Amino acid sequence: MLNIRDLHCEIDSKTILKGINLKVNPGEIHAIMGKNGSGKSTLSNLITGREGYDVSKGDILYNNESILDWSPDARSLAGIFMSFQYPVVIPGVNNTYFLKAALNAKRKSLGKKELDAAKFLKIIKEKLEIVDMDTKYLQRAVNEGFSGGEKKKNEILQMLTLEPSLSILDETDSGLDIDALKTVANGVNNFRDNKRSFIIITHYQRLLKYIEPDFIHVLIDGQIVKSGQKDLAEELEAKGYSWLQK
Ligand code: ADP
Ligand code: MG
Repeated sequence: MLNIRDLHCEIDSKTILKGINLKVNPGEIHAIMGKNGSGKSTLSNLITGREGYDVSKGDILYNNESILDWSPDARSLAGIFMSFQYPVVIPGVNNTYFLKAALNAKRKSLGKKELDAAKFLKIIKEKLEIVDMDTKYLQRAVNEGFSGGEKKKNEILQMLTLEPSLSILDETDSGLDIDALKTVANGVNNFRDNKRSFIIITHYQRLLKYIEPDFIHVLIDGQIVKSGQKDLAEELEAKGYSWLQK
């Protein structure tokens, strides 16, 4: 599904990513771990096409096609989703309208009929229950006045609504208390199937206790220095990252 080849990224003439190679097959969950500033969010931003982040060398293939020239919305319509490390507040934009417009844009691109308000509300209420959110969050502006944990749950609500093929969760666990963490993990686990793939970015092993990854990669200073399976997370928890540093 995703094939990242020798990916390099420079920002302000500083090299941030130094040759990332990563393949994600349908149904796989990959965790990316690493200290602050190692380039995890930069990698996510390159996959989703965020403005200001350019590939200086290498390629990103999604379903065997290079997406480097694709706009962020084209990537989203093609099934790529990202839950932001720092979710943005959009004052004046009602959360329901935002979700409904996003879902209908996606349905339209798939040649499906747009949903009316009543049908949408029925669907969204089921999703709200999964992330343990009250309907009052629908009436508020997107993320406005939401606590850190509520913002992260709202990101997962977006994921459940848009039903992406590839979901990138950038430190969705940070700022969550243990109950919210379990709720979010449940949301992901219920949503996971043999076609959907996930890249889960996290500092901590605790999330990976609830969402079991197939592979774990350690990113240090713009390079994947080690890949392994779930026991690697335990090793990192015990030994930290310094033993992997050059
Ligand atoms: P992580 O998510 O692993 O904490 P980031 O990808 O956010 O790391 O950042 C990696 C490095 O790239 C950091 O040194 C950061 O300051 C730098 N960086 C990321 N985005 C920008 C930007 N827009 N402008 C300047 N430097 C940036
Ligand atoms: Mg980050």
